[in-house]
Amino acid sequence: MSEPRKIVIVGAGLAGATAAGTLRERGYAGEILLLGTDTHRPYELPPLSKGLLLGTTEEPDWVHGEGFYEEKDITRRSGVTATRIELGARMVLDDAGGEYRFDRLVLATGSRPRTLPVPGGDLPGLLTLRTLDDALALRSAFKDARRVVIVGAGWIGTEAAAAAREHGAEVTVVDQAGSPLLAVLGEQVSGVFKDLHTEHGVNWRLGAGIAGFTGGPDGATGVRLKSGEELPADVVLVAVGAAPRVDLAHAAGLELSDDGGVCADAGLRTAAPDVYAIGDIAAHFHPRYGKRVRVEHWSNAKWQGEHVAGNLLGENEPYLKSPYFFSDQYDLGCEYRGLADPDTDELVVRGDLAARDFTAFWLRDGRVTAAMNVNQWDDGDALKALVEGRASVTAAELKAADLKTLA
Ligand SMILES: Cc1cc2nc3c(=O)[nH]c(=O)nc-3n(C[C@H](O)[C@H](O)[C@H](O)COP(=O)(O)OP(=O)(O)OC[C@H]3O[C@@H](n4cnc5c(N)ncnc54)[C@H](O)[C@@H]3O)c2cc1C
Repeated sequence: MSEPRKIVIVGAGLAGATAAGTLRERGYAGEILLLGTDTHRPYELPPLSKGLLLGTTEEPDWVHGEGFYEEKDITRRSGVTATRIELGARMVLDDAGGEYRFDRLVLATGSRPRTLPVPGGDLPGLLTLRTLDDALALRSAFKDARRVVIVGAGWIGTEAAAAAREHGAEVTVVDQAGSPLLAVLGEQVSGVFKDLHTEHGVNWRLGAGIAGFTGGPDGATGVRLKSGEELPADVVLVAVGAAPRVDLAHAAGLELSDDGGVCADAGLRTAAPDVYAIGDIAAHFHPRYGKRVRVEHWSNAKWQGEHVAGNLLGENEPYLKSPYFFSDQYDLGCEYRGLADPDTDELVVRGDLAARDFTAFWLRDGRVTAAMNVNQWDDGDALKALVEGRASVTAAELKAADLKTLA
């Protein structure tokens, strides 16, 4: 495979910007074009629902320092959206009239917040959280708000609830599930997060369906539940998950996975020659799991951005890393490694759930599928080894043995 002369990257988030930077680190000297809808320099999203929303930091974590892209001769077009890919002609077209030829194309278009198809679901003033501008708008709304309603008790909903409480607002979180983060963590561990937020004064409406949003042309004024209850609010945040942004890939004829991502092989290549998919949109075959996975985590975007650079330059290595993410809420910090099914995998708790000082393991057929450390920070390497090695262990060993000896 000859070295490409022009690499076009669509999507200037963490995955796309990391790919661009890594190409230069690896000595690639050809043209790099990084196309992005956002007008800001590429930034990381995690602080948007944590420090930035709390007001403890004024800036997000930029993927690269100011001046990096110019120094590295990476052409960055911001505020433009790629609207068409012509696979045969190897061209990308954007909404500003730009037409760019590529030898290799990387799609890194990320996700967009899901909306709710209910009456009032398109009212002005319903807030979502994905971009830096969203986070700044939400923070300023929290500062002035007396009552905040958050629809969705996933990671972004719960982190935003913590921030809104720190700003002093009265907060109600609504979810159709019976507990926050239930689908990822299962009943028991999810209960830890529920108690944490309850202790900090969050009101819950769990197992509750949304009938619609109240308000009018001047904005949303609250949420109506299927039970008939109305929750008035100065701020309504809709945090019901994210959907991969695949319209561009789909229109170009690329195959989509059942969960809406862009299908790719273990080396992050789509079926179209020289077209790769990375980050939130990539539904790639993962040899460890023996199936396609699509992971919406910070680490996945960063690591796939790094990984794809090698493959763009001809390495063809499979991407083998296990999913990893972290969250911070009030004084609780946690990290989760792996991919468990909390409905079927066996939960083993090492430490004290009630004290929020523990590591949870999930086991399938006696092997570790995932581990989550909560307010414990000394065993990261051992947890990584246990998950990546799919270690064969017993519940008793996980509870009591030195984890380093098990990995
Ligand atoms: C508020 C928030 C907090 C988060 N916190 C955590 C956390 O604590 N831990 C964790 O592990 N993960 C977290 N995540 C998830 C993680 O940040 C994402 O998985 C990761 O950013 C995905 O990176 P990406 O580059 O694939 O996509 P994105 O970061 O979404 O970047 C994609 C970029 O592509 C651009 N784009 C899309 N379509 C086009 C187009 N057609 N033309 C040009 N540009 C286009 C978009 O504007 C966007 O800038 C968080 C996400 C959010 C929203």
